[in-house]
Amino acid sequence: MPRRAPIAELEAGIRAEDRASLSRAITLAESRLRDDREQAQELIARLLPETGRAVRLGLTGVPGAGKSTAIEALGLWLIERGHRVAVLVIDPSSARTGGSILGDKTRMQKLSASAAFIRPTPSGGVLGGTARRTREAMLLCEAAGFDVVLVETVGVGQSEVELAEIVDCVALLLVPGAGDELQGIKRGIVELADVVAVNKADGDRVAEARRAAADYRRALRLLPPSTPGWETPVLTMSAAEGTGLDELWTQVESHRAFLESDGGLERRRAAQLTRWFDALLEEAVLERFAEGEGVAAALAGARDAVAAGELTVPRAVAEVLEARPADAAR
Ligand code: GDP
Repeated sequence: MPRRAPIAELEAGIRAEDRASLSRAITLAESRLRDDREQAQELIARLLPETGRAVRLGLTGVPGAGKSTAIEALGLWLIERGHRVAVLVIDPSSARTGGSILGDKTRMQKLSASAAFIRPTPSGGVLGGTARRTREAMLLCEAAGFDVVLVETVGVGQSEVELAEIVDCVALLLVPGAGDELQGIKRGIVELADVVAVNKADGDRVAEARRAAADYRRALRLLPPSTPGWETPVLTMSAAEGTGLDELWTQVESHRAFLESDGGLERRRAAQLTRWFDALLEEAVLERFAEGEGVAAALAGARDAVAAGELTVPRAVAEVLEARPADAAR
C-alpha cells in the first residue's frame, strides 16, 4: 500500500495541478475505509472554492453508440483549442468483475496519450454511491485546473439519472438503424438529454442519420424539456471522422449560456447539492448502523430468513433495527 499523503500535501499538489496528487485524492474518496473518505471529504472542503467553474458535460448512450470514440474525438478537439480535459468513466464492469473498462486498451488510446486526465469511477460496491464518487472526483479534477469534465456512462436506465445529478449538461448519443429508431424515448433516456447527437453519420449512413435526427426532433417536441424553456437540439455527427464536434460543442455552450441567463445553473447545482447531501447522509447512516455490535450477524440472519420465506420483509427490517438498541441511543 502506498503511504497515505497528508491532506495538506495533497491539497498543495492539487492546487499545483499535479496529476499524481489528483489520482491519490480520488483513490482516497473511493476508499472503502471510512477514515480515508473522511480525509477526502476534508480535502474537498478545503478545495471547494477552486471548483465549480468547469463545463460539466455528461455523455450517455447504449453500448456501441460510440461514446468512447466521441469522447476521444471531442477531448482531443478541446485540447487543441486550449482546454484542459478530464474524463471520468462510470464503469459498470468494475462492480461485477473488479476489472476495468479502461483495461481494454483500444478505448481512448490517443486521448490517454494526450494531456487529458482519464479515470474510471467504479460503480456499485457495498454502499453504492456511484454518483457521490463521480461528483467528488469531478470536484477534485476542477480544483486541479481542468476546465472541462466529461463524464461517460452507459445508458442502461438508472445510470442516466445519476449522470443528470452530477453534470450541467447531458448529451445523449444515438445511432441510426439500431432497430427501433425511437428506442431511447420509451426508456425515458431522451427526456434527460439536453443535447441529442445521432452518431455514425458517415459513409452510406448520412441520410439515415439525418432521418433519425428529424424523427427525434419531432418526438422531442412532445416530451417535457430536460431543462425548462430549453429546446433540446438534435444534431448529427461522426465521432470516427470528427465531423459535427464543433456543433456539439456549440450546443453544449449554448445550453450553458441558457442556464446561466436565468439562474438555471445555480438552481440545477443547488438541487444537485441537496441530492449529494442526501446520498452522503444515507451512506454514512447505513455504514454506522452496519458497524453496530451484532448488526452484521442480525443482517445476515434476517436476509436468509427473508429468502427462505420464514420472515416477512417488514418484520425482518424491524428485527434488524431492534438488534442495536444501545447504538440507536447514541
Ligand atoms: P461505446 O460502447 O458507446 O463507447 O462505443 P465505441 O466508441 O466503443 O464504438 C463502438 C463501435 O462503433 C466501434 O467499432 C467504433 O469504431 C464504432 N464507431 C464509433 N463512432 C463511430 C462513427 O462515428 N462512425 C462509424 N462508422 N463508426 C463509429
